Amino acid sequence: MQHPNEKFMKRAIELSRFAGIEKKSGGVFGAVIVKDGQIISEGYNRVMEDNDPTCHAEMDAIRKAGKKIGSPFLEECVLYTSAFCCPMCLCGAYWAHIKEIYYAATVEDAKQYGDFLDVNYYEEMRKEIKDRDIKCTEFMRAEAVDVWKEFNKMPDRAKY
Ligand SMILES: [Zn+2]
Repeated sequence: MQHPNEKFMKRAIELSRFAGIEKKSGGVFGAVIVKDGQIISEGYNRVMEDNDPTCHAEMDAIRKAGKKIGSPFLEECVLYTSAFCCPMCLCGAYWAHIKEIYYAATVEDAKQYGDFLDVNYYEEMRKEIKDRDIKCTEFMRAEAVDVWKEFNKMPDRAKY
């Protein structure tokens, strides 16, 4: 018996093959977003093709889904990804209010077979900010917070 979600994951894996092996646009990553049992967007890794380190399959699919449904929020949507999300894409799914994620390969697989650093970045996120590889320094907070205070008073401010 076919798993009801299998065709969606098969498509995500097809897209991963397209990206990593056929088109060589980036790593072996593909993703689809499904709403009401239909694929509403597809994405694949285009980091090398676009010289864009953020163009991961999931980000690509999330961006296209938002445009397609005319909303940045994908509450009723399910993400199928050929490999578990990196921290950026996982947060992208949170920002998009994605309901559920199915993944095929793990971040450990991506490291073992492709030298991808997702595992390292998850470890990095667990560290205190001061201990991370990229040095981060608070600077000019008061000036920035002035704008936040103004924003906070706006009744029609963006809310998400
Ligand atoms: Zn990612």
